[in-house]
Amino acid sequence: MSFSILLLAGGVGGAKMAEGLLHGPFGENLSILGNIADDQEIHGLWVSPDIDTLTYTLTDRIDKQKGWGLKDESNRTLDALNTLGEDTWMYLGDQDFATHIYRTDKRKKGIRPSVIAGDIARNLGLKIPLLLPTDDIVQTRLNTDLGWLDFQSYFVRYQCQPEIKEIVFSGAENATATTESLAAIAAADLIIFAPSNPIVSIGAILAVPQIKQAISNASAYKMAISPIIAGKTVKGPADKMLKALDIRCDALGVAHCYQGLIDLLVIDERDSSLANAIEALGIATAQTDTMMTDRSDKVRLANFVTEQYLQTQQVMS
Ligand code: GDP
Repeated sequence: MSFSILLLAGGVGGAKMAEGLLHGPFGENLSILGNIADDQEIHGLWVSPDIDTLTYTLTDRIDKQKGWGLKDESNRTLDALNTLGEDTWMYLGDQDFATHIYRTDKRKKGIRPSVIAGDIARNLGLKIPLLLPTDDIVQTRLNTDLGWLDFQSYFVRYQCQPEIKEIVFSGAENATATTESLAAIAAADLIIFAPSNPIVSIGAILAVPQIKQAISNASAYKMAISPIIAGKTVKGPADKMLKALDIRCDALGVAHCYQGLIDLLVIDERDSSLANAIEALGIATAQTDTMMTDRSDKVRLANFVTEQYLQTQQVMS
């Protein structure tokens, strides 16, 4: 059976799911819609961490230990910048710098950011479409006890320690969705929200009004995988963000984030006690081990997810 899949994905959790789908039986049918709201200018270069994590993971270039950045990296450029007196809290490896130089140069030449992202992915060997929600600049900004911070300052410089009072997606309200992302949403048979941060990864993609509207209108079957297992994040600050926004930090809280948009939420089997409450929100549930460590876990979860979709098709036929 052939069907098209669109995966909405952030960085690390999104890339794990993307890897599982790509290496599963329906990998050729996959398109990915990534998050650009973590992007910002660093040392004069436009850095796009989530998109690069997807590209590097899916082309087997990722530093598997860290889950981001390139393997076999060196940091002579960063050391040299440091000697020049630059503040180098954001780690950028020597090879990774090439990606940022390429991206910045093309942006300055007026090439659309989504074309550049697609070209980088293709040039590094990715054979499936990697799409951006918008070519406009959308940036996550956090109001904290240290004042307003851009995402990388909060995440990398201050290690998610500042207390969050408010999160905004600057530029999202007036951003125009890319025609490629709208076409992929309309064409998809299955739309999957990866187990990514529901606020600053998936939430930031949905913050572009045309994207959210298109997903809401899409005829695709829509499902999400909870990034919260037994009330805890596997990695990253999603727990702190959910708490700051007064949302429960568990799979039920994730269901609240996506209520009205998804048909099914895949939750971890450790969260089975939440299934009834999630179903009361009008969202079906399916349970499995959602922890992904190696490629076989990722493919297993991807197969479980696509199997849920195939079962709905059998019921309908
Ligand atoms: P970021 O942009 O790099 O923070 O990455 P994402 O937003 O894509 O992913 C972060 C989320 O992925 C966190 O909330 C994690 O709890 C979740 N996550 C990471 N690994 C796994 C996993 O193996 N299973 C599940 N269910 N969630 C995961």
